[in-house]
Amino acid sequence: MRKPTLDISIVIPVFNEAESLPGLHAELEAVLKSLGQSYEIIAIDDGSRDNSLKVLKNLSEIDPHLVIISLRRNFGQTAAFAAGFDRACGAIVITIDADGQNDPVDIPRLLARMAEGYDIVSGWRQNRKEPMLTRRLPSAAANWLIARNTGIYLHDSGCSLKAYAWEVAKTVRLYGDMHRFIPAFASSMGVRVAEVPVKDRARKFGKSHVGFSRTFRVFLDLFTLSFLLSFQGKPMRLFGSVGLVTGGLGGLILVYLAYLKIFLGVHLSDRPVLWLGILLVILSVQFLFFGLIAEMVTRTYHESQGKAIYVVREIIGRGQEDCEKERLSE
Ligand code: UDP
Ligand code: MG
Repeated sequence: MRKPTLDISIVIPVFNEAESLPGLHAELEAVLKSLGQSYEIIAIDDGSRDNSLKVLKNLSEIDPHLVIISLRRNFGQTAAFAAGFDRACGAIVITIDADGQNDPVDIPRLLARMAEGYDIVSGWRQNRKEPMLTRRLPSAAANWLIARNTGIYLHDSGCSLKAYAWEVAKTVRLYGDMHRFIPAFASSMGVRVAEVPVKDRARKFGKSHVGFSRTFRVFLDLFTLSFLLSFQGKPMRLFGSVGLVTGGLGGLILVYLAYLKIFLGVHLSDRPVLWLGILLVILSVQFLFFGLIAEMVTRTYHESQGKAIYVVREIIGRGQEDCEKERLSE
């Protein structure tokens, strides 16, 4: 893995935020300059249809720290984060929204926690005024489910203001709308996660890009997430268990019916439960074979990409260096 060449990378996804950008940039610059560390600001223009790209270009003329990645079309916030992570050179990668809802003043506190040895520090927006039914309830359910699956409880997984260690930003692969679940995914590589209360400001310009449909999308993503977290390396455990249960039930029904037919001479033509038995047995065979296919997909996933099934934090001692040289010269 490459090594970071800077201290801090700020990653900002931008979609139609022309009015907010100059203010945010000034706030960021003030905070980052005061830290006295090397940094870059990566703004990802996610196919904006307003002046955002032009505003960014103007800012980059006065600020050499600003890097602009202009995506060809609108790919969504998660993809924008991914583009930023791929390009980032900082030992700590900090994500922040472009709309000014996160306050850069909170960044030093995130960094202070990172310095304590955490791999992810997440912002936690306190006293948010969001509707109970459409926003707060689903997010509480999501947090509970994630905690159950990963042992990591975040009060506010949706907060964009987060700091990631370089290894985390470079390792997680993001799909769909899953940026809010990075800490959960990263839990599989064994991360230490902390939370820091941060400010939540109202949007000054423009309006939010997401509506009620997000609740459904997040719900479905959670489904994927819990599957991947629990069964990615062993899908047969899930499909096989369902297969065994349906097969067991179906088998019992059929054995019972066979007993009725053979020993008591009962006619089975008017027993609907016969169909249930047959259905369950067929389902069971399907589930078992589905599990086998999923096992093969898992192996393809890991082996085709040379992905190990473990993640190393560090290797201590010199012994391995020689071995590594040998391996490279092979
Ligand atoms: N965003 C993006 N691509 C999109 C939608 C949003 O890059 O397709 C950016 C947007 O510019 C903002 C951040 O993602 O910086 C969060 O978006 P928004 O404020 O609409 O979400 P909310 O704060 O309401 O959750
Ligand atoms: Mg916002």
